[in-house]
Amino acid sequence: MSTDIRSDIEGMKAEVQRIGFIFAMRAEGQGLIDRLGLTEQGRLDPDLPACWVSGRVEGGSSGRDLEVAIVFAGEDPYHGCDRIGTLPATMAAYLLCRRFRPDLLVNAGTCGGFQREGASIGAVYVGGGDFLFHDRRIPLPEFEAFGIGRIPAIVDEPMRMALGAESGIISTGDSFAPTAEEQSFFERERVTCKEMEAASLASLSRDLGVHFLAVKAVTDLVDHPEPEASAFARNLNRVSQILVERLINLLEWMKVRE
Ligand code: SAH
Repeated sequence: MSTDIRSDIEGMKAEVQRIGFIFAMRAEGQGLIDRLGLTEQGRLDPDLPACWVSGRVEGGSSGRDLEVAIVFAGEDPYHGCDRIGTLPATMAAYLLCRRFRPDLLVNAGTCGGFQREGASIGAVYVGGGDFLFHDRRIPLPEFEAFGIGRIPAIVDEPMRMALGAESGIISTGDSFAPTAEEQSFFERERVTCKEMEAASLASLSRDLGVHFLAVKAVTDLVDHPEPEASAFARNLNRVSQILVERLINLLEWMKVRE
């Protein structure tokens, strides 16, 4: 990155010109593709359904251009649904990082929220504290801590404010339905957002030395009588629109030199 850019922008923003987004589901990310007019780039690997789109966000006279790419793990050809969860997300993000070389990887998506930590439907969070895994129970020395993860979240405050998001603890697991043991974990660890990708992407980003941000919008409440699955289905489209608006705000702020 050239020094002239560093000189008039501060914080993480100064180091970020190429932004890679990963969404688990098309329904979560299609709105951003449409709004930015990005171009489909096809598969990242001929044998995997992971696919990406890219383009430029023009900075105009007072700003700087941003290069943006979005990757999806893609549709599972055997089951006809999006390949959600940690493994497909990590593989897709890895392929994107090698191909596109982002300065910042953003895992944007939806999550289950916890009312007891202040969450409500449509609220948007950035991952704060540590990223946790709630379904990697390995009661063996060393592996226990490895299982839980505790991958430090590095939250850039101006970036969080540009998103209009609160900071909350995010916990990741490969199941949508929580067990009783996981429920006590969420309470003990004061988890605000429960989802299925962020911690594994935080771990990948740490390995690759890429800045990482998780932005999650609440589609359903875990500590609420309505089953998560029905709230999720009812709110997915509306909440994904809220999420896209916030991501547009982030990009608008990112491109301004100040
Ligand atoms: N039943 C849904 C599948 C969505 S799974 C369908 O058929 O369309 C949930 C996806 O949204 C995951 O990618 C996860 O990151 C996120 N998510 C939203 N609410 C969640 C919750 N309560 N628990 C776990 N993940 C959740």
